This record gives sequence, C-alpha cells and structure tokens, in this order.
Amino acid sequence: MRTRLPVLLVVVIVAATVIAGLVVGAQRDDRSGPVDLVVLNGRVFAGAGREPAEALAARGNEILRVGSNRDMKRLAGAATRVIDAHGGSVLPGFIDGHVHFVSGGLGMDRVNLLDAESLDAIRKKIREFAAANPDRAWVLGRGWYYSPFPGGLPTRQQLDELVPDRPAYMTCYDGHTGWANTAALELAGITAKTPDPTDGVIVKDPKTGEPTGILKEAAQGLMSKVLPQATRADRLRAIRRASEEASRLGLTSIHEAGTGEASLEMFEEVRKEGALAVRVYAALSVKDNMTEADADAFDALRKRYAANPQIKVGAVKVMEDGVIEAHTAAMLAPYANKPSSGHANYTPQELQRVVTMMDRRGWQVMTHAIGDGAVRMTLDAYEAAAKANPAPPAGRRHRVEHAETIDPADFPRFKQQNTIVSYMPFHANPTPAQLTVWTTNIGPERSSRGWIVRTLQQAGARQVFGSDWPVVALDPRLEVNMAVTRRTADGQPREGWLPEQAVTLESAIENMTAAGAYASFDEGKKGRLAPGMLADIVILSKDVFAQPPERFLDAVVDTTILGGKIVYQR
Ligand SMILES: [Zn+2]
Repeated sequence: MRTRLPVLLVVVIVAATVIAGLVVGAQRDDRSGPVDLVVLNGRVFAGAGREPAEALAARGNEILRVGSNRDMKRLAGAATRVIDAHGGSVLPGFIDGHVHFVSGGLGMDRVNLLDAESLDAIRKKIREFAAANPDRAWVLGRGWYYSPFPGGLPTRQQLDELVPDRPAYMTCYDGHTGWANTAALELAGITAKTPDPTDGVIVKDPKTGEPTGILKEAAQGLMSKVLPQATRADRLRAIRRASEEASRLGLTSIHEAGTGEASLEMFEEVRKEGALAVRVYAALSVKDNMTEADADAFDALRKRYAANPQIKVGAVKVMEDGVIEAHTAAMLAPYANKPSSGHANYTPQELQRVVTMMDRRGWQVMTHAIGDGAVRMTLDAYEAAAKANPAPPAGRRHRVEHAETIDPADFPRFKQQNTIVSYMPFHANPTPAQLTVWTTNIGPERSSRGWIVRTLQQAGARQVFGSDWPVVALDPRLEVNMAVTRRTADGQPREGWLPEQAVTLESAIENMTAAGAYASFDEGKKGRLAPGMLADIVILSKDVFAQPPERFLDAVVDTTILGGKIVYQR
C-alpha cells in the first residue's frame, strides 16, 4: 500500500491538471475548495443581447462563476447547496428603485384598497375590515383611487355609513389625499372655521362651508396629529414583514425614498436580528429650510453607515410637488379642467440652494417631481449645482422621481446632465380607476407624454424602475410587465396605452435590476450575474425569454437568494 500511494497521487494530480486546463481559463478560485451554492439547469440572464448561460456558482456572498452545468457541477462538493432551476430564468435579484418600506409594512395591517376598483368593492373592504376588527379604536386604510367616486373625491358621509361607530381615515393610493369620517374630523378639531395649512387644502362644501372629509397634501398633517401612532414595535414588525414580502417577490435591494435617523436605526436592529433580507439604499428626507448644520448631521449619518454590510445612506429626498390627480403637481401651464398650474413646494431659488448644498457634499439628490413644471425646475436646479460645484469623484447621478409628464424641450437634458429618470411604470396601469382622472386633469396633449419610457431611452436618458409601494403593490413583475405591454395584468386595452412607449423585456428587466445598482453607485457590486458580483439572485418558474413577452406575469418567483443565502423558496 505504502509504495502505491505516491503513484496514485501523481495520477490524480495529472488528471486534475488536465481537467483544469479544459475548464475555460482555469479560474483562480477553483482550487480553494468546493463552492457553497450552484444553480443548475437555468437560463442565466447575462444582460441584454447576450446568450444566457446554464448555470452559476457562488462562494460566500459572491458569484464565482457563470457557465455550463458541467463546469458548475465540478465546483460542487458534498456540502454545496445545489438548486435546480428547471429551465427557468435566473436573473439578478430585483432592485426596487423607490419604495416606502416602513409605511408599506405598516399598511399590511390596515384596509388595503389597492385592488378595489369600484365603489362597491371599496365599501365591502372597509365594512369587512371594520367588522373583523371591532376592538380597534380607529379603522385605518389606504389605497383608494379617485375615479370610483363621483367627482373624483369621496365624502365623510360615505365613510360614516361604513364606519359609524368610531373614527376612520383612509389615505389615497398616491398618499397625497386623505379621506376622514365625521368622527375623525371631530377628533382632529377640523371644522368649517379651520384655515388651510401652508401647502395643503381642507376641502369644504361650497354651500355649507363644512369640511367634506377630504384633506389634500399638507392638510393631512392635521389628521396625523390625532391618529394612533405606530409604536417602535409596530415599525420593527413592519420592516420584518415587508422584508419577507420583498423576498417572496424576488427583491434583494430597495431604495427607501425618504427616511431618517430613527428609521435607519430600526432597519439596523432588524438586520442584527438577521431578519432584514434586502439591501437598503436610503434617501434621507430633506428638512424645510435645510441649513448647513442639518446637512452636517446628514453627513454624520452617512458616515455612521459607511461600513454597514446591508444599509447604505447616499441620497437625499426632496418633495418638489404633489400629484396630477389632486391638481397639486406643478405644471408649466394650467390644468385642463382647473384654472391653476398646481403648486411647487419650493421656489426655484430655494430648490437650487438646497440642491447645490447637498451636491457640494457629494450627496445624490432624489427629487419628487411629477408635473412638467416641477421636472423643469428640478433639472434647472441640478444644472445650477453642476455649475457651482466641482464634479464629485464618483460623478453626478441625481434623479427625478416619477416625472409623469415631461415637456419635450427637457427630453435631452437628462442625458446631458446624467440625471436618472426614476419611473414607476405601474402607476400608468391603464385601468379606468387609475388613469382616467390623471388624463382628464391634464388633457390629451400632455397625457400623450405620460411615462415615456421609450422616448427617454431613445434620448439616452438613464432610467431606474421602482414601485413606490405602498402606492401600488410591491411586486416588481408588475412594473416590468407594464413597461413591456403598457396594458393591465388582464391585457387591457388590447392595443396598449401609448403602445409606442413599450420597451423590450430585456430592457425592462435591466431597469429593474442593473439600473437600480447604478442608481445607488453599486454597479460594481450588484445588478448583474457575473463573477465577483454579489450573489443576489432570483429564479423564476419559467424562461421568460422563451415565451411571448406579454406572458411575463405567468412566471412566478421560485427562489430568492441574497448574498449566496436562500431567503425564499416557493
Ligand atoms: Zn414615493
């Protein structure tokens, strides 16, 4: 035995060397033992226009190799986790470029009206929730659309009928309008005599002067004061639930659009528990009259999270205007059905001051700008900042959030400035409930420039997709499907709404993955399936490129992997 051993060893070494030589490029890391995870029998998306691979392998939290089943099997050992993708698409984990994770999670505990598209459906949902939760002091909900209500707005009497015994308050799907019943108005002390707050409107009956129950924009703050406050425990639970929901939907990263120190600490607490299954890119909400001292505090917060493995602070969120549905978005010209151009929360000078201050400190600015007037003012502010400040080392990647309608003169400016358009394609879900008020308020000409994903792509503008959850559902497949089809999930209207704005499935998926990585300065780490990238992966139940693109929603998430660890399996 002793004499034979060296001979055997030589044979093994020679064989291994030959095999390694056959394996393309004989990868450097192959020798440091078996890998932790391999995905076999998949269609591994390698980026638009590239041939898919069959398989990939990950070691630790990174992708080690992408290639053939045969090569990846060779990297596996007894302890390697092997996942069979059964021919399904293997994509980079989805990145939601704009969410409100904490409020989304809190909303999972309230009446959800997002899929209630008729008055009857809304009534039924609220009534059932109230009946099922008799011990709650308030009945809270969100997600109603304007169009099921005659005139586009509900009334307190309608809510009194559904919840007669206690206060009730329902936030509109876009978060810009609140609907209170009479008991809630009384608790908040809102009467015929209450004046409108700055940047908000208490809608009053033109005949009686009594409040109708509708609170627009900042007027919602009058109600927030008396609403039962979510406790810290409620918020922690909301983050955990939202994280689970994200994993179920194939999301591995989110951009939290507007947050602050206290929420970040809660994200961190959940991360330490091991219950945060997404990477968080946080945008801090800019304060009113933001000072250099406020900005110093932001800088300190960014520094505190600089080494955090899952939470990154890099952006600031500015709320520039409201929404078209409530006539509160800032337009260049008056609304089609109201002698007003809406309202910007900032003067051009003040916006430029804040943007320039944050740009100088190397922050990315994310500005909520929905109307064409707000979009222009935002682009002007970014231009002014670029003139005033030297370019930051990583380059400028400011963003316009929503940009629902843009004046043609501004199309080329996104590319010129390297400003990212942050689109929520599913906000254009062309159901009568979701789109009618929008198109009526701005008229056909401006409506024809709604969510012009394709036009801006042709103009060379970088884009990123997000959901704005809880404004619409968190499911990233809905965003991709809408960008590709411009139709509802049921395929309506058949010809698509502004069908010339549809993009390819590959490009929609890139906007929901790689683009989100670029938009947080992380394109070197994630958003693509390639060696050295984080092993953030989603496996779908079908090869979505082997079927007509309009059948994308047939595919569901089978497995979600975050940093090489399986966080969801169907
Ligand atoms: Zn938002």
